[in-house]
Amino acid sequence: MCQSCIDQARRQFLTRSALGLAAGALVLGGLERPARAAAPAVPPTTLTPDEALAKLKDGNKRYVEAPQLCEADMLKRRQEVAQGQAPWATVLTCADSRVPPELLFGGLNLGELFVCRNAGNTADVATLGTIEYGAEHLGSPLIVVMGHERCGAVKAACEVAEKGTKLPGFIGPMVDAILPAARAEKGKPGDFVANVVRENARRTAAKIGAESEIVKHLEHEKKVKIVYAVYDLDTGVVEFIG
Ligand SMILES: [Zn+2]
Repeated sequence: MCQSCIDQARRQFLTRSALGLAAGALVLGGLERPARAAAPAVPPTTLTPDEALAKLKDGNKRYVEAPQLCEADMLKRRQEVAQGQAPWATVLTCADSRVPPELLFGGLNLGELFVCRNAGNTADVATLGTIEYGAEHLGSPLIVVMGHERCGAVKAACEVAEKGTKLPGFIGPMVDAILPAARAEKGKPGDFVANVVRENARRTAAKIGAESEIVKHLEHEKKVKIVYAVYDLDTGVVEFIG
């Protein structure tokens, strides 16, 4: 066992202990029920990263070609997953109301996707922690960073990069995370916003792999894969790029 693996094992133990304590405290503090172990009540998915990716691609094909077949039996599923979750893919995407991952990946049901959303699908601390929780604790084997066509947050970053526009409130600092992609794509051939959507998704995926030691280790062990994609608002197609 290499030093990295030893460190990882220690970290996993500490994470599980901390999460267990936190879950117990919440239950005890809120409802005065006995503390429950933090481990999921259902086993993690057995899908490999590539199988999870193929399943998302199949789901998106179904959504594009036969959206009427995407209905889900949510009552039955709600009962199945009420006591635990074992999502088989994590999706970081935009908060845009036209981009709900469960729907555009084929009408997926409760308990299937672990979803992080914010305007511009960037990876701040909360998002990185959420992704780590999904991968390490829930056993989600695939992380998808998905930008989308005509993204408002990306458009705002393009305006800041081109014209120095000042954005109000917390929107400014939020968009700052997209600015490096906007500056890198400024002046390049093609549609500026579309180029930045793609580059921002690529950079966010790279950031997750570079900054999260937990994800890095799981990637090294081939338990997790990170990909990025762009969703087409007009056709409904998710293009997986890298
Ligand atoms: Zn957006």
